Amino acid sequence: MSAMLSFQGVGHRFGARIAVAGFDLDVAAGEVVCLLGPSGCGKTTALRLAAGLEPLQQGRIQLGGATVAGDGRDVPPEARNVGLVFQDHALFPHLTVLDNVAFGLKGDDRLTIAKTWLDRVGLGPRGNDHPFMLSGGEQQRIALARALAPGPRVMLMDEPFSSLDAGLRAELRRQTLHLLRQAGTATLLVTHDPEEAMAMADRIVVMRAGRIVQAGTPEQVYCRPASRFIAEFLGEANVMPGVVTGGAVPTPFGPIPAPGLADGAAVDIVVRPESLRLASAGAPVQVLEARRVGGSLVVVIEWADGTRAVVRRHGGDAVAVGARAGVEVLPGELLVLPVER
Ligand code: ATP
Repeated sequence: MSAMLSFQGVGHRFGARIAVAGFDLDVAAGEVVCLLGPSGCGKTTALRLAAGLEPLQQGRIQLGGATVAGDGRDVPPEARNVGLVFQDHALFPHLTVLDNVAFGLKGDDRLTIAKTWLDRVGLGPRGNDHPFMLSGGEQQRIALARALAPGPRVMLMDEPFSSLDAGLRAELRRQTLHLLRQAGTATLLVTHDPEEAMAMADRIVVMRAGRIVQAGTPEQVYCRPASRFIAEFLGEANVMPGVVTGGAVPTPFGPIPAPGLADGAAVDIVVRPESLRLASAGAPVQVLEARRVGGSLVVVIEWADGTRAVVRRHGGDAVAVGARAGVEVLPGELLVLPVER
């Protein structure tokens, strides 16, 4: 699969502050990659470098196999053939909705093409309105249509749905994915919201302090996080301290092998709440708390040595606080991760 967008050894500083370092990433045609990480980890800087909105300091960026930044080249943003969508819509207030969508188009049929895109985002009848007459969600659909209308090979999106309320966000994510897939666009989408990344991405690239710390399918980064930081960033996780002893780590569920880790090494034992099950057999625990959250039952359990964990399950009978129970872990879902320095 050849890369439509490629970052090669990209680094960027603002004064002494390192914003992006050792950044290598390829995005293929038709692929949606989400850059995910906490505030300030360098996501937006990476996106701006690809768009040409920030001059490249180190490395190389290629679009469709051609170098657009690095090796002495710096192709201006308007000549990169990339679509941009930001959080704040950034529509032209003095232009009609139709003229906004037609803005990047050339040729006699530009208004016809713009009209087609307006129809695709479900706003065909609103072409003569001005942006201020549209809701936030409608404005963002126009921004999307404007970015897609010129048929960019690469789409760069920075928190495109974060100004919308939850229901609208889910709906617009679905529509956007559909349109991107139809167009076969290579997409890099920046978000700090793991749920958004899981809903949109073919591949999630997790960043921390300017660097990529893990890249994989949503399933891989959620179920096989490379570190405690990633496990906790992607969702709720129980984390217990452990020490490798005789090639294994003692856990409340019995020893689990720790291949490749030296005896005495400190580890994090990580397990998602939905990977634990209350059972009649298994490690004995006491129920400290039990509450319904949405469709889930969330139960806090405690072992005799004071270790606590959260168990989550969908549906089923209530659990009495104070009850004694056993707890089991789903096979392969207890992770032993080296402690990060
Ligand atoms: P957020 O999710 O909050 O938008 P981010 O992951 O997109 O964060 P960036 O905006 O890429 O992070 O910023 C990376 C680092 O570079 C941060 O420490 C930020 O303060 C710094 N930075 C970004 N832009 C500039 C600038 N124009 N001048 C100085 N420092 C900057």
